[in-house]
Amino acid sequence: MSELKEAIPPKKYAKEFYGNCPNCGCGQVEGKNIDIASGDVGITEMHQPMTCTECPAVWTDIYVLDRYQNPEGFTNPIPAGDLL
Ligand SMILES: [Zn+2]
Repeated sequence: MSELKEAIPPKKYAKEFYGNCPNCGCGQVEGKNIDIASGDVGITEMHQPMTCTECPAVWTDIYVLDRYQNPEGFTNPIPAGDLL
């Protein structure tokens, strides 16, 4: 069933293998509903339960809030250079 000799480490998965199963490496993965959660202090995370359709693996993908974009209706100016 598995083509990998060992699981893809969590950080490597996030950078290079997003969309693939970290256990078997296939691209047949499914995500469930995303929940917003508090992570470490000052970090807001979204957690998405994931499953693989090719092997028994289940895991949670973690997304970290980075910034906002497309502001509308603001009554205060946004400092120049702060909208990337
Ligand atoms: Zn798998």
